[in-house]
Amino acid sequence: MSRFGKKLNIVLLGPPGAGKGTQAKSLAHKYQLLHISTGDILREAVRQNTKLGREAQSYIRKGELVPDEVVFNLVKEYLTQRDCENGAIFDGFPRNINQAKMLQNLEYIKQSDCFIVFLIDIPEQEAIRRLSNRRYCPKCKSIYNLLDKMPQKHVGDSYLCDKCGERLVIRDDDKPETIKHRLHIYHKEIGPVIDFYKDLSLLYNIDGIRGKEAVFNELVNTVDEIIAKDCKNDRNKK
Ligand code: AMP
Repeated sequence: MSRFGKKLNIVLLGPPGAGKGTQAKSLAHKYQLLHISTGDILREAVRQNTKLGREAQSYIRKGELVPDEVVFNLVKEYLTQRDCENGAIFDGFPRNINQAKMLQNLEYIKQSDCFIVFLIDIPEQEAIRRLSNRRYCPKCKSIYNLLDKMPQKHVGDSYLCDKCGERLVIRDDDKPETIKHRLHIYHKEIGPVIDFYKDLSLLYNIDGIRGKEAVFNELVNTVDEIIAKDCKNDRNKK
């Protein structure tokens, strides 16, 4: 159980490039939560050429969603195999209404005391700007951005990871045509997910255009306020 005695689960929604991954890592560290990034898990499976990876690869490359059942089983398995005693942070999941309902019906979530959903939003042009400048470490998964988080070292045209020295890459799906397609899929699918969490009074809107620290502070203040109210948010009244 977490230091405040309750299981805390957080969902981060938002378009690609909104900073979900960065914020999820910081929140997971602060509240000692299990970080579940379905995108990272799928990319690692592709890298290791597992059955899951081979199944997911073509979807990821095209910027399409991997089938719901595949992603849901992966999340369930991840939760059972890892320590999520304090709770978990879901980054990049759910992506559509079907996944949102699947998550809500999961025994693990039903039994949890505190459930918070953040929608970190940024305008489309900003998402494109951030994603096209993003660099990714395929080894330790660190994320850089040539706009505001430059890696320190480079060899020729390639940047190296500050943490592990690996050569950084542009994700296949951060290529311009794929970025547009991912944003299109996001806008097509996310409306009903937002309505679903609004109806449950679980949704908090966060303006993601600001700097990382400002966004993080707002997330933490909101979480702490909810914890201070003993997690008696509207959801528990239903
Ligand atoms: P992300 O790193 O979250 O941007 O995810 C990268 C890609 O992985 C997405 O464009 C999808 O192809 C796939 N993916 C990640 N999460 C999901 C999900 N919850 N449902 C379906 N596909 C996903």
